Amino acid sequence: ATNNDFLLAVEGLTVSFDGFKAVDDLSFYVDRDEIRVIIGPNGAGKTTVLDLICGKTRATAGSIRFEGRELTKMSEHEIVRAGVGRKFQTPSIYEDLTVFENLELSIPGTRHVFKALGFRRDRAVVERVTRIAEEIFLADQLTRRGDELAHGQKQWLEIGMLLIQDPALLMLDEPVAGMSVAERTKTADLLNRITRGRSVIVIEHDMNFVKDIAHKVTVLHQGRILSEGDIDKVQSDPKVIEVYLGH
Ligand code: ADP
Repeated sequence: ATNNDFLLAVEGLTVSFDGFKAVDDLSFYVDRDEIRVIIGPNGAGKTTVLDLICGKTRATAGSIRFEGRELTKMSEHEIVRAGVGRKFQTPSIYEDLTVFENLELSIPGTRHVFKALGFRRDRAVVERVTRIAEEIFLADQLTRRGDELAHGQKQWLEIGMLLIQDPALLMLDEPVAGMSVAERTKTADLLNRITRGRSVIVIEHDMNFVKDIAHKVTVLHQGRILSEGDIDKVQSDPKVIEVYLGH
């Protein structure tokens, strides 16, 4: 196997902020259809890794190959168009628009059509929005305004707004923060369902949720990999135990 067989190949990735290496010579590989969970104590560099992949932060050194393309040379917009979707921790939906409209506006190119046609919708758009709404448990909420949704529903809507763009890689930062146990279970089902033809990278603290979704776990500490493997392997790794007990 060569590194081109992976959906994402991160090699030697480094970023310095005023001489401080937040991410330090990091290499990891994500398979197709894989759910990778990144864990690690606060300040380990988890968010910075996602920022580097989506182009929000520029690498000091190293490479990020995605479907054979070098992301470190691309703009944030080009990276989105290449098929990378990123969800931040706080939902950023349009509060004054309906669920339908939020999803519709997220279809690439629709923003323009929406205005030009004065809300006249073609059937393909309606079908696409409806299909995604079903995936994210909001099929019966299409006419609800964003600000009327519960916190968990807002999180799902934002995942839907990314899914409707059909990214090959979806990156989520603590997607179940603030959710009830029932909502967490549904979110785990959702993530497990959408990984056919798609990979997901999740930053997560809730180890019960990690168990429900992770194919493989990467433990970061001080910008480097402390441990990597399946959940049982990393949880029993003395290095991991030491770092978590030391906090
Ligand atoms: P985590 O997500 O694991 O909690 P972060 O990636 O947010 O960690 O941060 C890793 C380290 O990099 C922290 O020490 C943080 O203060 C630092 N850091 C992150 N972004 C910046 C920035 N833009 N400028 C300076 N320091 C930063």
